[in-house]
Amino acid sequence: MHEFILLPCPFCGSEAEFVRFGSKIPYDVIRCTGCYCQTDAIIGGLKSGVESWNNRVTYGSPAPVQKLKNERGAGRKPKISDIDKQRILDFVSRGSSYRSTAHYFKVSLGTVHKLINEHEKIV
Ligand SMILES: [Zn+2]
Repeated sequence: MHEFILLPCPFCGSEAEFVRFGSKIPYDVIRCTGCYCQTDAIIGGLKSGVESWNNRVTYGSPAPVQKLKNERGAGRKPKISDIDKQRILDFVSRGSSYRSTAHYFKVSLGTVHKLINEHEKIV
């Protein structure tokens, strides 16, 4: 019927076929004979439909998936919230000593130093 070569279904590997729908306004799709996945209605000639059916990302070239950093959410939970970090920076910028700030927020003096250092790098 057609001179086109249809690649097998990208999902199940079964043969594909042309199927005509509609009586008044007929349209064709290319459909898998196994799982019945199909193209959209082919407009602009069967050749364009064949091209879209045949040009798929399959055959050993799965689309690259960007991996999330720290996918499992591994590691220690942050000791202090972002809000507290901001408040600590506020305290220090208003003249509170590192030591009394650390005491107030129940964190170590080192933590306050670290926060200030990180903040100064950003600013
Ligand atoms: Zn299929």
